[in-house]
Order: sequence, then C-alpha cells, then structure tokens
Amino acid sequence: MRADADVVIVGGGIMGLAIAYHLATRGVTKVTVVEKSYLCSGASGRNGGGVRAQWSSEANVRLMQESIEMCRDFAQKMKINVWFRQGGYLFLARSAQKVQALEQSVKVQNECGLGTSMLTPSEAKKIVPELDATPILAASYNPDDGVVFPWPFVWGYAQAAQRLGVEVIPFCDVIGFETSGSRIDAVTVRPNPEIGSSEKREQKIATHKVVNAAGAWSPEVAKMLGIDLPNRPHRHEICSSEPFKPWLRPLVADLTDGLYFSQSTRGEIVGGISQRHVPPGINQESSHTFLGRYAQAITRTCPILGAAKVLRQWAGCYDITPDANPIVGEVDGIDHFYQASGFMGHGFMMAPIIGKLLAQYIVDEAPLPLFDRWNLRRFDRGELLSEAMIIG
Ligand SMILES: Cc1cc2nc3c(=O)[nH]c(=O)nc-3n(C[C@H](O)[C@H](O)[C@H](O)COP(=O)(O)OP(=O)(O)OC[C@H]3O[C@@H](n4cnc5c(N)ncnc54)[C@H](O)[C@@H]3O)c2cc1C
Repeated sequence: MRADADVVIVGGGIMGLAIAYHLATRGVTKVTVVEKSYLCSGASGRNGGGVRAQWSSEANVRLMQESIEMCRDFAQKMKINVWFRQGGYLFLARSAQKVQALEQSVKVQNECGLGTSMLTPSEAKKIVPELDATPILAASYNPDDGVVFPWPFVWGYAQAAQRLGVEVIPFCDVIGFETSGSRIDAVTVRPNPEIGSSEKREQKIATHKVVNAAGAWSPEVAKMLGIDLPNRPHRHEICSSEPFKPWLRPLVADLTDGLYFSQSTRGEIVGGISQRHVPPGINQESSHTFLGRYAQAITRTCPILGAAKVLRQWAGCYDITPDANPIVGEVDGIDHFYQASGFMGHGFMMAPIIGKLLAQYIVDEAPLPLFDRWNLRRFDRGELLSEAMIIG
C-alpha cells in the first residue's frame, strides 16, 4: 500500500471508483481507494441497475442525460460488457396527484430535450401488453432509459482506474484520521480480518485530500472527523425470478407504491417495492414481509407474473437524506474533505456523471453551482430541496 497519496477515497463502491477513475483521467493518478470489504459488497453490488433520465428537477434530468450517454459508451471505453439495454422506463400513475406529478415532470423533461411521452392506459398497454391497465390513470415513457448489470460496471471502473495507476485496496477499513487544525494529514487504515491475512497492523496513508464515498456508512466515516451527516441507512429489499424468454421491454415503476421491476438480459424479472417504515440502521437481511408485499403488487400490476417463481432475494442499504437529495462537495471545518453520499435509490445511475464532476471539482478547485445546492450546509440553512420522481 502507498505510504502517501494525492487523494484517498473511502469506499470502493461505484461512487468511489468512478471518482477515482475520473481523477486519474485528469492526471491525478496517485489515488488510493480503500474498501473495507469486496468491491460489490455495498449497495453498488446489490441494486437493480436502473438508469433513467425521467426526473422532476431540471438538474437531475440534465445530469442523467449525460450519465446515460456515458453508460452507452462504457463497454467500449472500459473494455467490459455491462449488459446495458435501453428498453425505456414506464412510470405508472394510479391517482390524480401522481398523474399531476408525472405531467409536471414530463414537461421539465421535454424542455430538456428528452423524448418522454405521457400515455393513456391503453397506450401503456401497447408497450407492456401483460399490464392490467384498469387501475392506471396515466403513464409516462422515455425509450432512452434502461438497465445495466451492476457488477461489471463496478469492476469496469476499478480495472480502468487501476490501469491508470490508481491503487484499489479491498478488505481494508478506514478507522481514523490524523489532522492538524482543519487540515487532514493522514488516513489510518487496518486490514479487515475477512481477508484471512495475518497482517493486522494499522497503517497510515499520508494525504491532505479525502473523499467520503462510503455510501450508507458515510456518516460513520464523517464522524471520525467530527462532521455530522444527516443521512441514514435504511434497508431496501429486492428479488429476482427464474429466467424467461425476453418479453418485458421497459422497467415498469409505480409512483404510488414504489413497485418497480424489469427483465434482465439473462431473462430474470428483477424488482423491489417501497417499504416505508423501515427503521434506520445497517441491515442487509431479507424478509418474508417484503416478498409478500412485492408479490401482491406485481401480480396486481402484471397478473401473468403470479406464476413466476422467485429464485433469489437480497437486500442492501439506501442511504437516505432528509430531503431525498445527495450531499456532495466540501464541508465547513475540515479542508478538502469531499462528500459523495445520500444517493438513495439512484446513486448507481448518477455515479458516471457525479464521478466526472467531483473529479473536476477536486482538480480545478473551482465552485460548481450543483454542488453548492447539494452542500451539507443546506440542512443548517433550512434550504431543503425536493424531487418528486423517487421510487423504491
Ligand atoms: C436494493 C437496491 C436497489 C437499488 N436500485 C438502484 C437502481 O436501480 N438504480 C440506481 O441508480 N441505484 C439503485 N440503488 C442505489 C445504488 O445502489 C446506490 O445509490 C449506489 O450504489 C451507492 O454507491 P456508493 O458507492 O455510494 O455506495 P456503496 O456501493 O454502498 O459503497 C460504499 C462502500 O464503502 C465501504 N465502506 C464503508 N465504510 C468504510 C470504511 N470505514 N472503510 C473502508 N470502506 C468503507 C463499504 O463497504 C461499501 O462497499 C439501489 C440500492 C439498493 C440497496
């Protein structure tokens, strides 16, 4: 392990690795990514791989337009197949309030140049003929949205970053920091016993710049430097069915109960549903309660799926902020301690563009209006943000 680095990144999930890769493409190659477990152990290895530009805020729509472009180029650029498939996202509304939310969002999306359309229930049924459109009042559809297979996406960033000189250290915990005043001097790390290595000694990596990309664990990491982050981990469950021949083009998402499901390139139906009263805390266990709720909702939406068998279920943590918007950029009190957390159920799709922008922000040291909006300060100032197109 390097004794010193220009930037140390805590967390080898999609966010940390995308930032590391983009730092390296900007010439900052003396970067060390420290990951306490294996690379897909966090939310980045446990998610549904949904990638969409259907958002209600102009900022999110524009970010995701660029991120989708980056997903499209990813396989060729990174030399890895990420199974990116643009089958669109079909959002369903079952109440007048949700129809209004969809209409307002589609207006914003169209103003940004996105080809999203509002659909009647029978038009939605043309896209997914197996849908029971009876309770649906309207839908929205953007054919450019899609899904990826998350694991190779994570590995692709890790390998590309390593080719450029980035050091990626799995099974190693960040356990503390050395500081003088507001300056970070070193990151203290300790090999995680999971690796079975006899090496258990703490080590220091000298650095003045640290990125906190620890996802649902970000508040724990920030706490080591006396910074209080308001995001909290909440379990989010998901499951996968037996494989079928291809029949479902888009990812279907219901704004009312947070049901979502898509068909993977391997044929499985992968989906989840909102579980609103999940207490905060790191919990990656699966439950029967989830399966029951998901089964009811998916069979009501697509009755044919009542016969599908669930082969696997798992869970990860959503990293949830009080206003459902992320925390990105520098914090007051500690110099060059960059945050990249609070991405709830959409951090995977945003990682390509956020990785690029955060690397630019670190290298150029120039303000970015987006990161001012997403700064931690907004919670003290009561300047909370909003976003209507949250699912899961
Ligand atoms: C079930 C589920 C479905 C989802 N579906 C989607 C979806 O369809 N589309 C989408 O865009 N997003 C989705 N998300 C959200 C998305 O997965 C996350 O927003 C994203 O993966 C966050 O990436 P990350 O790198 O910030 O966090 P993570 O992937 O969690 O990575 C953080 C890493 O930090 C490591 N770490 C923590 N503490 C330390 C420490 N002290 N020292 C060293 N390492 C540390 C952890 O081990 C972890 O690997 C979903 C999430 C879940 C749980």
